[in-house]
Order: sequence, then C-alpha cells, then structure tokens
Amino acid sequence: MYLIIGSGLSGAVIAERISNILKEKVIIIEKLEHIGGNCYDYIDETTGILCNKYGAHIFHTNNEEVWEYINSFETKWIRWEHKVLSLIDNKYIPIPINITSVNELLNETINNSKEMDEWLKKNQIKYENIKNSEEMAKSRIGEDLYNKLIKNYTYKQWNKYPKELDKSVLERIPVKNNYDTRYFTDKYQVLPDKGYTNFIKQLLNNKLITIILNTDYNEYKKNNDLSIFKKIIYTGSIDKYFDNINEKLEYRSINFIKEIYENMNYYQPNSVINYPNMNVPYTRIVEYKHFLNQKSNDTIIVSEKTNDIGEPYYPVPNKKNLELFNIASFFVKISIVLFLTTQRYKNLLYNFKYL
Ligand code: UDP
Repeated sequence: MYLIIGSGLSGAVIAERISNILKEKVIIIEKLEHIGGNCYDYIDETTGILCNKYGAHIFHTNNEEVWEYINSFETKWIRWEHKVLSLIDNKYIPIPINITSVNELLNETINNSKEMDEWLKKNQIKYENIKNSEEMAKSRIGEDLYNKLIKNYTYKQWNKYPKELDKSVLERIPVKNNYDTRYFTDKYQVLPDKGYTNFIKQLLNNKLITIILNTDYNEYKKNNDLSIFKKIIYTGSIDKYFDNINEKLEYRSINFIKEIYENMNYYQPNSVINYPNMNVPYTRIVEYKHFLNQKSNDTIIVSEKTNDIGEPYYPVPNKKNLELFNIASFFVKISIVLFLTTQRYKNLLYNFKYL
C-alpha cells in the first residue's frame, strides 16, 4: 500500500499510475475539503459559470507523452490560446511584449520582426553578470518598458522590487519580435471541457484509491503507523514536510475577491487584465466566463490581491529562501535514503533542529 500526500495534479497522476499499472492500493490524504489542489474548479450556483477557486490555470505542454496521457481519459481538451492584456495609460496593452505593445505604449512605428529586433537591441541594457530580476528585465526589454510594465506590477505582486528578487522571476516573461500575443507557445494549450476537478476525479476513479479529505499530514503521521506503507509520496510544500523547523520559507499568497454581475454580458474585454498601476489595489482581474466561451446571462470577476498570509502560492525566490530551500531539499534527499534503508532513523530525522 502507498500513501500520497496531496490530491492535486501530481498526487492524482501518481495515484492513477500506482492503482492502474501496479494494481496496488493507495491512500491519499488531502488537507483541504476537496480534491484537486490549486487546480480545483467548480460551477458557480448563481450563474452556472465554471470558475477556478485558486486562480486561472491553462494546461500547456510540448510533451507528446503527457498529451497522450491526458487524452486517455474521458475529458475532452479544448484548444485555448491564453492572452493577457495590461491596462496602462488608459490603454489595453497585450502581454507578452510584442510589436503591438511597443508601438502602443511608446508611440513607436515598428512594422516587422527585423525592426523589432533592432529596437530591442538598441534598448536592452547590457550587464556582465545579471544579478537580479531588475537587471534581467532591463537586459531583455530596456528601461522604458520595464518602468511601465514590470516594476510596479512586480512590487504589487511580491511586495519587493525586482532588484530584490532572483533573476529567475523575470527570466520567464516572454518577449516576442512579432505580433504573436499568445502567452504560451507550446504545441498543446488547452482547457478541460468540464473543468480540472472533473478530470482529477477521472484520474482517481479506481477502487484501489481511498481519499481522506480535511486531513493534515503532520496530524496524520502522529496518529498513524507510517511503516505499513511501501512508499510515501509527498506533494506538499517542502517546509511543511519538516513539522519542527524554526524557519519557514517565505511565500506570497493571494486574496481572491469574487463579484457576480447579473445581466451583464462581459465586464472586461479579456479573460485576464493586469493592473500595473500603483493606485489600483489588485494585480489582476480574471473573468472566468471568457474561458471556453461560456454562456450565461451574468458574469463573474475575481480580483487578485497578493499578501503574506494565507495559503502559499508563490515561493519568494530571493537569496535567503533559495538557501533555506537547498538545505531543506538536502534533508529530504537524506531522509529518502534513510527511509529506504531503515525506519530506525525516522525519529532522528523528525527531531532535526538544524533548519
Ligand atoms: N509581471 C509583470 N507585469 C506583468 C505580468 C507579469 O511585472 O504585466 C512579472 C511579475 O513579477 C510576475 C511575473 O512577471 O510575478 C510572472 O508573471 P505571470 O503573470 O506569468 O505569473 P503568474 O502569476 O500567472 O504565475
């Protein structure tokens, strides 16, 4: 028998593989009152609109095996090319940065990829060694776009300016030298026809799988004998794994503020609108009706405001956290080796006061 902690996509896929391929029993414990982790979605009772509880999720991959796997269940995956607009200087600017964003925001007259490459080359700032996200962004899009699109949005999102964040945060912001306004370029970009919760239910639909909701792993481990499990697969956050560490990883959380507008077709022109302006309290607004072109007389918007308390969504990638994470991963590796070798070391590991 196997124990899996967490019923999000990772936990559910592993449970599906163990039960269907190995034909072994699985117990999944989930601290929330529902399966699906952060991908959890539901039909809003008032409007009939499918909404994500914890922010929008677009499934995208280039991996053929992953694509075949997700298509081997009943769910139909509907093509969805995600687009984002950012409201700046009273204009909706397409994100990621492309020819249209530069022309509209900076009154340029770029016509083609060659001119865009030249513009980028002229504006990108050269650094010998990129040390943080401010340098990363300026090296890719230059000072003006950085100030208008990135600096304040990032501050609102992280409560830190980009120069206080590891370069990886703004490394993943795509920049296009054409008119492509798609957020992702993967071969497969899709949404599940009946939602992620429905898909995850299909993954977990096996008599060998038992799901226990509303159960925290640290509580469970105090009251149950874990040595009965062949393997324990933990998909939760790494610092929660160590229940007795003094220092916690720093995360940003999101406060989701949901509003229903009856008898309104659409509230905004796109599924996601970003607000880099410091005077607006939220970072973005998601209007779920746009996804899968849903039909309803009403609409729902969810404004996202980030904060430090609440569920951890974004690990803060700065030097201190990366160091702490590396130490924690090191102990996880050791604990796996020791766990496999002998159960005798278990108490010793749980009592590590080092972290
Ligand atoms: N970002 C920004 N301006 C934008 C969109 C993103 O400065 O209009 C920065 C910001 O620091 C953010 C990061 O890029 O944390 C990644 O943004 P994305 O929206 O892709 O991340 P998500 O919140 O969807 O995971």
